[in-house]
Amino acid sequence: MKAGVIAVQGDVAEHAEAVRRAAAAHGESAEVVEVRDSGIVPDCDVLLMPGGESTTISRLIHREGIAPEIREHVAAGKPVLATCAGLIVCSRDAKDDRVDALGVVDVSVDRNAFGRQKDSFEAKVPVEGLSEPFHAVFIRAPAIDEVGEGVETLATVDDRPVAVRDGPVVATSFHPELTEDSRIHDLAFFPGSEVEA
Ligand code: GLN
Repeated sequence: MKAGVIAVQGDVAEHAEAVRRAAAAHGESAEVVEVRDSGIVPDCDVLLMPGGESTTISRLIHREGIAPEIREHVAAGKPVLATCAGLIVCSRDAKDDRVDALGVVDVSVDRNAFGRQKDSFEAKVPVEGLSEPFHAVFIRAPAIDEVGEGVETLATVDDRPVAVRDGPVVATSFHPELTEDSRIHDLAFFPGSEVEA
């Protein structure tokens, strides 16, 4: 499995580790490539859109011509895991002129909604498709405030969605790469076959 991590900015190494662990749990190996230029995404089986600063990530993926390739990847039905700023960039509407959202996840987001209340927090979150709750780390996390019809909500905190699936894309407000638990990567890349945490 060839996994591309969008590496224009943000937490790349942790995602690379998590996808390797998820693949190993399925008896597969993942070749992880860092995506900073166009021409790499078309060869990838799965993509990771990490956290960071969504305004910066958005500017760079458009400037480098990576944005249309991500849209084509999703249109081809290939898996994506988008986390935190990655979710903001993938959304339909980020309500911020500096984010040219890709529209591959039919949700609108409020960029720093959780962050305004509390900069970061952790919570044990029950997730659809996982038998045990997931220890979720939120860092200046976006809230999802509108969910389109075809979007499945996988997890909520205080009645607000924090993990969703829209076709081949799984998107989370939190950072699943920051713990040893790779079940969210598993859910995104090996749907329907949960392995032990
Ligand atoms: N709030 C940040 C943004 O708007 C995202 C934070 C994160 O990815 N941890 O880009």
